[in-house]
Amino acid sequence: MNRQQAIIADLKYLLQGNVLADEPLSMHTTWRVGGPAEVFVMPVSSQDVAAVTRYANERGIPLTVLGNGSNVLVGDRGLAGIVLKIGAGLAQLDVKRNKIRAQAGAGVGRVAAAALEAHLGGLEFVWGIPASIGGAIVMNAGANGRAMADVVTGILAVTPAGETATLGREDLVFGYRESILQATPLIVVEALLTLAPREKDRIRREMEAGLAHRKATQPLAYPSAGSVFKNPPGQAAGRLIELAGAKGLTVGKAQVSRKHANFIINLGGATAADIYELINRVRELVYEKTGISLELEVKVLGEM
Ligand SMILES: Cc1cc2nc3c(=O)[nH]c(=O)nc-3n(C[C@H](O)[C@H](O)[C@H](O)COP(=O)(O)OP(=O)(O)OC[C@H]3O[C@@H](n4cnc5c(N)ncnc54)[C@H](O)[C@@H]3O)c2cc1C
Repeated sequence: MNRQQAIIADLKYLLQGNVLADEPLSMHTTWRVGGPAEVFVMPVSSQDVAAVTRYANERGIPLTVLGNGSNVLVGDRGLAGIVLKIGAGLAQLDVKRNKIRAQAGAGVGRVAAAALEAHLGGLEFVWGIPASIGGAIVMNAGANGRAMADVVTGILAVTPAGETATLGREDLVFGYRESILQATPLIVVEALLTLAPREKDRIRREMEAGLAHRKATQPLAYPSAGSVFKNPPGQAAGRLIELAGAKGLTVGKAQVSRKHANFIINLGGATAADIYELINRVRELVYEKTGISLELEVKVLGEM
């Protein structure tokens, strides 16, 4: 039995969720790129998450967490070790008064729809963001001047030792597309959101207006990961990319969108290497033109 087979046999014994070999990660990223995961796990409970983290930690096996894969660039050679996909198996929701308890794999759109039904405002901005609740909290996803930090009261997380930890909003140290979770090995399994009562029609109108704006300004017909770079203070990354003349720049099948220059789109059949090279070229062009060094918003996983 080789290492991969041994890990799979162990995890199938330990977990209730599915365990797969060589799962193509291009099926789990919105850019539709990424090679295979040596071992791919879909947990169905926080106990599953705890068992995997403890197992990987004790044996020194690399563990990578994926939510909906909408902010990651996974290398063409894939990822060694275990990829833990927090998705549909861990996606329960519970609405009580003005609070929503959501498991980390719940899609933010589903949570926003539940908030709408309960006449609760505060999550309108997530409508159209293809994130899981866990990924949205890790990234402090936001739009229109609002962000997850505004609604998160606390989370339940799993430590590498497989213990459960409770973190409050202050512990999460939210910033622009940042949280402490990006610098710790904690895995979010559940979140508590606090919302405010609001008229249903007003919530719906704001959600629809946000989505219409996205459709008008973003290249949603193509696979992408949303904004590739963070906006430097007081500047829009897309505007700087336009200024640098990089709109429409193409490497292989990856292209800087003509509709929104901070999006890199997969024209069909792009590789992670195409996208990564394009990212570097855009960075160089922007630096030459403006002296500003753009910082990546997307997370690069694996070798490029
Ligand atoms: C069309 C489009 C539009 C977008 N619009 C926006 C927008 O308006 N605003 C915005 O902020 N972003 C936007 N994004 C980017 C993206 O949706 C967000 O960054 C989102 O928060 C990522 O969530 P995810 O579940 O896909 O996380 P992933 O991409 O799967 O993961 C992101 C990071 O979080 C980690 N992670 C994920 N889940 C967990 C967990 N449960 N525990 C611990 N770590 C975890 C991963 O390891 C990775 O480092 C857009 C993307 C697309 C494709």
